[in-house]
Amino acid sequence: MNRFLKYGLSLGIAAVTFSALGNDTIMVTEQQRKNAQTLIDDAISSDLAYSIVESLTTEVGARMAGSEAEARARKWGVDLGNELGFDRVSVEEFNMPFWQRGELSVSLTKPYKQHLHGTALGGGAASKGSIDADVVYFRSIEDLKKVSKGELKGKVAFVDGDILVKSQTGAGYGQANQRRRIGWQHAERAQAQALLVRSVGSDSHRFPHTGMMSSKEGDWASIPVIALSNPDADQIRRLHRLGKPLEVNLTSGAKWQGDVQSGNVILDLIGSERPEEIVLIGGHLDSWDLGTGAVDDGAGVSITTAAAALIAQLPKRPKRTIRVVMFGAEEVGLLGARAYAKRHENELDNHVLATESDFGAGSIWQLNSNVSEQATLLIDEIGHVLSPLGIVRGKSDVKGGGPDIIPLDEKGVPTIRLSQNGMDYFDLHHTPDDTLDKIRPDELAQNVAAYAAAIYLVADSDVEFRKK
Ligand SMILES: [Zn+2]
Repeated sequence: MNRFLKYGLSLGIAAVTFSALGNDTIMVTEQQRKNAQTLIDDAISSDLAYSIVESLTTEVGARMAGSEAEARARKWGVDLGNELGFDRVSVEEFNMPFWQRGELSVSLTKPYKQHLHGTALGGGAASKGSIDADVVYFRSIEDLKKVSKGELKGKVAFVDGDILVKSQTGAGYGQANQRRRIGWQHAERAQAQALLVRSVGSDSHRFPHTGMMSSKEGDWASIPVIALSNPDADQIRRLHRLGKPLEVNLTSGAKWQGDVQSGNVILDLIGSERPEEIVLIGGHLDSWDLGTGAVDDGAGVSITTAAAALIAQLPKRPKRTIRVVMFGAEEVGLLGARAYAKRHENELDNHVLATESDFGAGSIWQLNSNVSEQATLLIDEIGHVLSPLGIVRGKSDVKGGGPDIIPLDEKGVPTIRLSQNGMDYFDLHHTPDDTLDKIRPDELAQNVAAYAAAIYLVADSDVEFRKK
């Protein structure tokens, strides 16, 4: 028995009374409107996406890029694609260097002994034995950038910053993330023994947020780099303000483990009229190892897979091919996305549109696009279709379809973005708290409804999306 079919797919039963909203263009036919409304109604009453993310986070669990668990996730993705009736299911493998965090302990030893809640940042090195050192406090990454060569010899640097402001859009993350990404380059130049950073999150719990650092021309940190939870960083800030000399003890077992295999799982619904034209949606299959990768990005995988699976229940395939990509190794530097763009280099002109769900499991509130003038009219119409879901039509000049879409965007593939409410995203993202209980089934279903209707209308249209 197909374990996913028990989650009511009632397509074909929905009564459709969708008013034409006064449109006199023919971007969307009456039949297409009806189909889109059927998809919305069915998505809202189905818990397919929730069952998918429940299965992924429970049966596979955490899925670090390049790990044995990520390989199990690929097998899970293939089995799922076959069970849900996709026309073509494949895996495209690639090699990657594998980093593991190992064991970590970090404590204040002066002015008093206190355990700190920290986690290694991706790409960091192991400590050479146990490190005992004075802490040099920097209020921000900008201050750390000013250190001179050798200035921190034998010390441990701590880079403070501020708690991320909660917002619907996640504004401020890119800026705050600088200390995580490039702080090590300055600490290392100054010959620090290790770097501690305030973890990048909007929460006040003691789960530090991990995440990848940036390499410097292919080189990675040769020192341990540790994120500390916001409350631990607050404590260090207060002690520093009191003028207390600080010392820490730390050991980290993080290290690179050589080359391993990762891969992208690809599920296609083959188009009925223009099978070579591809509308690409997806999420990333890998996750950080601390939680179970529910909101980042089990949600995106489940939303896009469920949306395509609902479209597969329509009596006829849309004109264009709908491709769901479960990208591998996103967290460690968009490795799956780059492998996909390279492998499909010669077919990218046939990629009509691409978009990814990778901002948690909150409801979608806005539809942005960056497509041709003619296709913008279609996206405007899709905006009307989605408005009963509480989604507003945003702007038509917003580039970007999600992290894994960046390499495609760079090659000129048109994008849209169904923006989710990210108010709590940076409370959970990359922490042990990224678990299934944080996902609301009704919000997940709203996402599926929006993706299913929007992607169906794009795939069943004849509109040229590429700008001239
Ligand atoms: Zn993600």
